[in-house]
Amino acid sequence: MSRRTKKVGSSGKFGPRYGLSVKKQVRSLEGSKRASYVCPKCSKKNVKRVAVGIWECRSCAHKFAGGAYMPRTGKFSTLENRLGRV
Ligand SMILES: [Zn+2]
Repeated sequence: MSRRTKKVGSSGKFGPRYGLSVKKQVRSLEGSKRASYVCPKCSKKNVKRVAVGIWECRSCAHKFAGGAYMPRTGKFSTLENRLGRV
């Protein structure tokens, strides 16, 4: 029996659909949604995703909205800069 997800890892669940390059993107995003991120409040690297777009710090319980797969997306920080915030 051959491995079905040789090239695409966890995104192999999509089967033959969507194409290889899309699945590679999905895989990198799925990795980043499980990783820990630095908390904007206490600066500890203990932020986990609790739901799509919702992030929570396990150290200080600070909860905030962010990107679906990362607390701060590229577009998000561009927007914040335009609004004059950090
Ligand atoms: Zn925190």
